[in-house]
Amino acid sequence: MEGTIVNVQKYSVHDGPGIRTTIFFKGCPLKCWWCHNPESISLKEEIMSCEDKCTNCGRCIKICREEAIKLKDGNPFVELEKCKSCGRCAEFCISDAKEHVGRKVHVDELIVQIKKDIPFYEESGGGVTFSGGEPLMQGEFLNEVLKRCKKIHINTTLDTCGYSDWEKIDKIHDKVDLFLYDLKIFDEKKHIKYTGVSNKLILENLKKLSSLGKNIYVRMPIIKGINDDREHVDNCVEFLSELNILQVNLLPYHKLGMNKYNKLAKEYKLTGEEKPSDSEMREIAEKFRTAGIKVKIGG
Ligand code: SF4
Ligand code: SF4
Repeated sequence: MEGTIVNVQKYSVHDGPGIRTTIFFKGCPLKCWWCHNPESISLKEEIMSCEDKCTNCGRCIKICREEAIKLKDGNPFVELEKCKSCGRCAEFCISDAKEHVGRKVHVDELIVQIKKDIPFYEESGGGVTFSGGEPLMQGEFLNEVLKRCKKIHINTTLDTCGYSDWEKIDKIHDKVDLFLYDLKIFDEKKHIKYTGVSNKLILENLKKLSSLGKNIYVRMPIIKGINDDREHVDNCVEFLSELNILQVNLLPYHKLGMNKYNKLAKEYKLTGEEKPSDSEMREIAEKFRTAGIKVKIGG
């Protein structure tokens, strides 16, 4: 069985316990304004264009069989509706100005890569983390890789936005040792505005996982002017204090993914100035601590 991934990151230390191999799946049902991995949102393979590296040699225009690359303001521009994501332009660009994002991978190939890092997992108490994008978008593939990991006793972590039919989660939760579960915005209308979907399913699924006694770290991105207000924080503290979770991780907004939007011809809707101050982060953390919830600033 095959799935589509963006990449496999080795020796990761922020995606669960110990040293981990993190597999970034392609495809996500949400479109968060602050997403720093916009290349993982579409399930389709894509081309990222870096104007700074382009020498305007014109090779990509000639090489594209779909005639999907045209000159726009003197620069080669990919017309997404015509592009078939074949990757030829990236392959033939000698300036690395085009990058082919996403590739199909077979479960067997992933397991071979994962097995190579077993000594690191054993040494550090690490394992494999499934991230993205949203791994549950490719539920069957995820289930298959998880099954194979558990067969060889590898620790597994699932980084998820929680927006999925319960049936998919129900199929895999017994093979996941730790959930990194995103809680982005508590108010439903605001959630729809900033992520494109309702949060009802996300909150329900979190409650269900909690009632099953699963190991859960809740991850909350904190974005100034969007979800750092008192009312939002209080609502989250109240909701989470009723659940059975191990820890909350507060993740201050950063603008590291901002320039990828340009490369993908996508609009970045924030200003890049939405990072909360250290003192704001400490104040928010204190609210969780006061409610008896273990909290950490950062991943
Ligand atoms: S092949 Fe690369 S360097 Fe040449 S025009 Fe295309 S993107 Fe630019
Ligand atoms: S990926 Fe293929 S179809 Fe798309 S622009 Fe490049 S060469 Fe053309």
